[in-house]
Amino acid sequence: MLAKLKRGLVLAAFAWVVAPVPTQTFDTIVRHGRIIDGTGNPAYFADLAIANGRIAAIGKIMGKAKVEIDAAGQVVAPGFIDVHTHADDVAKFPLAENFIQMGVTTIIAGNCGSSAKNIAELFSEIEHVHVSPNFATLIGQGTVRAEAMGGSFDRPPTAREMTAMKGTVEQGMKDGAVGMSTGLIYLPGTFTKTDEIVELTKVLAPYNGIYTSHMRDEGAKILDSLNEVFRIAREAGVRAEVSHIKLSSNDAWGRTAEVLAAIEHARAEGLEITQDEYAYTASSTGISQLIPDSAREGGRQKFLARVGNAETKAGIVAEMRASLEHHQRKDFAYAVIAEYKHDPALDGMNIPAAAKARRGSESVADQIELILDIESHGGAQGVFHGINEDDLQVFMRHPNTMIACDSGVREFGKGVPHPRGYGNNARVLARYVRELGVLRLEDAIRRMTSLPAQTFHFKDRGQLRAGDWADVVIFDPATIQDHATYEDPHHYPTGIQYVLVNGVVVLKDGKHTGATPGMVLRNQPVAN
Ligand SMILES: [Zn+2]
Repeated sequence: MLAKLKRGLVLAAFAWVVAPVPTQTFDTIVRHGRIIDGTGNPAYFADLAIANGRIAAIGKIMGKAKVEIDAAGQVVAPGFIDVHTHADDVAKFPLAENFIQMGVTTIIAGNCGSSAKNIAELFSEIEHVHVSPNFATLIGQGTVRAEAMGGSFDRPPTAREMTAMKGTVEQGMKDGAVGMSTGLIYLPGTFTKTDEIVELTKVLAPYNGIYTSHMRDEGAKILDSLNEVFRIAREAGVRAEVSHIKLSSNDAWGRTAEVLAAIEHARAEGLEITQDEYAYTASSTGISQLIPDSAREGGRQKFLARVGNAETKAGIVAEMRASLEHHQRKDFAYAVIAEYKHDPALDGMNIPAAAKARRGSESVADQIELILDIESHGGAQGVFHGINEDDLQVFMRHPNTMIACDSGVREFGKGVPHPRGYGNNARVLARYVRELGVLRLEDAIRRMTSLPAQTFHFKDRGQLRAGDWADVVIFDPATIQDHATYEDPHHYPTGIQYVLVNGVVVLKDGKHTGATPGMVLRNQPVAN
């Protein structure tokens, strides 16, 4: 009762200061909402009118609309922009429901060095199929390198291969990619020396493209990795994003202050360095990352030959044992199988449990045998519990950290994938804003909206501002909740009532409407 009275008073107060908008007919009016505009500025109460896909007015709206949404008691925010996704196959899953259900209205794909080879073809496919969210992409350096060099090889490119790579990146930028990503723990990215990346990244500069990186090391050597990012940004003359910032092994935990100081130092020098993060203490990537690069170099046939030879196999096993020791781990229990097509019964089991199930023993020797066996049968996706909660919160508090899930489009019910693809934004708003108070609500929204829009140059998105595209999320900050867990990830969040993309309702009362108003967002190198 008191809360209701208070709200009435605030509404009455704002009626004085918000100028009435002349009577007019709109497509949609969202009334009585608490507007959080995406800039980080404090919330205020107002109506929001939409016409022709764009925000027509914000204030006391006197006119009428075909669709009226009552947002009393709800927050009205810009649609969330997720700068780090692996939703490269959105044309295959055009509703992208896990993203829409989290309030994400714009996704950036092509991360961690992996993207479509032909950006123009990808865009025309998406525009032909029609998808729910807006879509932008980076071009993946790993994809480009593998294509030019005929596979994943641990050698520098020839001059001809370098020319081919530059040509592919340049074409990608002309086609509208927003920048280039690297994944320097993956094959073939890991075989790329810094000079090679600098040379390729120079291609981005005239197109105002961003360089994003899954860095070479997110553990004990993280400062070297950051220095590599800074050098690339400096020498190529581009801005750079540190993807999914984290300290991913316990020998590096607690070094957040050093990491953030290094980034601040680089910014003080004049470099534009920003970062993104997901709100979970586990990461997710291929189980193959547990196997040394040298064992997998050159592709699958070479890997099979190496594990088929007793001597080379002994070397691989020794390296895997040494790596455990180096990271102060007694076994591979921190690694969980998320999706293994060859043997889906193992999905959701950690490596010791899976070794016990398939080999009758959870000894480290059997765990290693199982990991090599998985790779021999096409590999599996994994979830890796290696991040410290305190570190996660320190990185989250840094004002230049965006919220991004690092997930692909999820197929509901398939495998036991990382929960971040279902819960990330809702988890930030529930756990880190409402429960723990790590971020103010307005600040959390800023990291999901205007900060990514500014960083990736989406000039008319990421804020609630008259004239901008009407990407809008309406949610209840008191009840918003993620429900996806590591054990049982296939649950959408609750508390998000409406999601609009380009003025079209794609989520209503928590249900996907089937609408596909998403646009391809091409890089706009020239200021306008
Ligand atoms: Zn990554």
